[in-house]
Amino acid sequence: MHESHKKYPHDCCRCGMCCLAVLCPAAMYFLGLRNKTAGPCPFLVWGKDGLSSCHLAAILEDPSLLGISTGCCILSRAVRQDGTEEDFASLPVETKRALAQAVRDGQVANINTYQ
Ligand code: SF4
Ligand code: SF4
Repeated sequence: MHESHKKYPHDCCRCGMCCLAVLCPAAMYFLGLRNKTAGPCPFLVWGKDGLSSCHLAAILEDPSLLGISTGCCILSRAVRQDGTEEDFASLPVETKRALAQAVRDGQVANINTYQ
């Protein structure tokens, strides 16, 4: 993480939720898609440590086009069972990773973002 590039208040913890939810503009460009497309992104990969990486970033000459290292950019709410809501980006790291793993493993069916 290069703090000088940081645009959003919370660091990216590589939970992968954003790329599970929706394809980013770069993914849509490379896949020839025009309309907002739900994830998971085909370029999303998972390490043995359970953390996400972007295969597109690994093969692009200029991965900065993907906005990586700018902080957590997801615009999404987490809704608790009691109905209270919280900005997903602001949740504790372990909570974000656990929620993303639940989505990845099919235990949570829906992800809605503001984008
Ligand atoms: S291309 Fe990379 S950053 Fe964009 S949605 Fe896919 S995995 Fe995420
Ligand atoms: S949801 Fe936020 S913390 Fe998780 S991978 Fe995306 S940008 Fe990083």
